[in-house]
Amino acid sequence: MTSPPLEVDPRSGRLLSSVPVSGDRRRHPAPAHLRFFHGPMDCGKSTLALQVDHNQSRQGRHGLLLTQGDRSGRPRITSRVGLRREAIDVADGTDLRGLVRGHWAEGHRVDYLIVDEAQFLTAAQVDQLAELVDEWHVDVYAFGLTTDFRTRLFPGTQRLLEVADDVQRIQVEVLCWCGLPGLLNARVVDGAMVREGETVVVADTAPTPAPGEPSPEEDVHYQVLCRRHHVLGRLGPTPAGPGQLAFP
Ligand SMILES: [Zn+2]
Repeated sequence: MTSPPLEVDPRSGRLLSSVPVSGDRRRHPAPAHLRFFHGPMDCGKSTLALQVDHNQSRQGRHGLLLTQGDRSGRPRITSRVGLRREAIDVADGTDLRGLVRGHWAEGHRVDYLIVDEAQFLTAAQVDQLAELVDEWHVDVYAFGLTTDFRTRLFPGTQRLLEVADDVQRIQVEVLCWCGLPGLLNARVVDGAMVREGETVVVADTAPTPAPGEPSPEEDVHYQVLCRRHHVLGRLGPTPAGPGQLAFP
């Protein structure tokens, strides 16, 4: 048996023999990646999540769709443009490695994960995703909100920013009422913007009542604003109109 001829880079003079030849790929599986896409509410992240799933499955790959905090009773990823797919609802305590291994044990392939509402993941769950990528070569595509209504990073978002291989801010399609890109989420209670309170698990796709229309329970909804109008607490163009923060 003869060894393959040694190749030498003509410029550096270095041996190239350590470069795996093409038939070697199975022993050196293509590395998987943890990718995180984030943006404000209404930025189209669920649509992007479903598009990525579509592209992956068209290549014959098999994926699992996960979501968090879906209160509809039938977990699914729903986009505002009308697409939807059934999804697995993840609780705080769910071990995502165990979830994937369970599917493997049942004989199902899992090549990739789509994780929507990833802002609600715990830091430990994000680390579990990283382990699935590194040790099990599962590609992970996570989608989440950047900041809560207090303009602070969500816990899952923070951990993903820390450890993801690739982070992309979703090109903003949503505008503040003034026409500038909307970057921040405002919580509006009874027509006024609030900055205090708990981060509540509300799916990004929860229906937002139209202007002037009361929401079904208490009058709480979210509105996307540019940074300046988030700082000023201006929810609309009328300076003295309702919905303004009262300044002393
Ligand atoms: Zn604005």
